Amino acid sequence: MITVKNLSYTYPKNPLPTVKNINFEIKEGKIFGFLGPSGAGKSTTQKILIKLLSNFQGEIQISGKKLKNWNSEFYNHIGVGFELPNHYLKLTALENLKFFSTFYTRKPESYIRLLGMVGLQEDANKKVENFSKGMKMRLNFIRALMHDPEIYFFDEPTAGLDPVNARNIKDIILDLKAKGKTIFVTTHNMHDADELCDRVAFLVDGEIKLIDSPHDLKLKNGERKLRVEYMNDKTQIVEFDMDGLGKNKNFIEIINKYKIQSMHSEEASLEDIFIKVTGRNLL
Ligand code: ADP
Ligand code: MG
Repeated sequence: MITVKNLSYTYPKNPLPTVKNINFEIKEGKIFGFLGPSGAGKSTTQKILIKLLSNFQGEIQISGKKLKNWNSEFYNHIGVGFELPNHYLKLTALENLKFFSTFYTRKPESYIRLLGMVGLQEDANKKVENFSKGMKMRLNFIRALMHDPEIYFFDEPTAGLDPVNARNIKDIILDLKAKGKTIFVTTHNMHDADELCDRVAFLVDGEIKLIDSPHDLKLKNGERKLRVEYMNDKTQIVEFDMDGLGKNKNFIEIINKYKIQSMHSEEASLEDIFIKVTGRNLL
């Protein structure tokens, strides 16, 4: 659905490139993530992909067409969640949605239902200037969904949201995927990347250091061990090799005899792997 080849980008006033020769591909119906610390070039890449920044080097194809050859019809096919909300503050939430929907051919069946998806139905007629940052973010998010496009770009979709709203936004993104939509998401939150992405690119200083599926990465980089915590007068912790576990007498005795408090396989966290691969942390 999206193919990016040898993409580089330098901001007009900067001496050095912000995006450096990156390559990736996003298949239809998949969620692809850019994980990286602040300043890595995630938003810049998103802005290039949605045609907000031009004069890039390299080649980008979206839905079978070179990005350069897409005219404004492009925006009927993509939904964009910007990093920072950009609403008309003097207008209400509903008026904002109605205004922005005039840009698109397809109109939503129900604006109130859309607002309800992110818990803003009661706030439909309030001016956005009275919204909290989180409410603005949620309104921003549903603007991407209004015209039911096939492709979505979400720049840090859960940033600044409380855990309940962040959970809801992630569920909506997973629902979009279940409907076969193609999704590009940027984040500096490894839990979001882990949970949402079929494949994730580690981005540092404008360079992709690795692309893989979070699941495979964690298995490849973890230890094949099981950590068991059980009660025997006091809490005991033992580790077992995952291989041959079913025949491990000690393991079988423990799970038969004692109260198990927890059992965890010791796969690496995405954050551990990010640090190992890039030498940087995600802040
Ligand atoms: P991220 O989204 O990963 O935090 P950005 O893409 O926003 O990173 O920024 C990457 C780099 O590009 C940063 O060093 C930032 O200062 C620089 N940058 C971003 N926007 C501009 C701009 N409009 N002009 C010049 N440099 C910019
Ligand atoms: Mg950003």
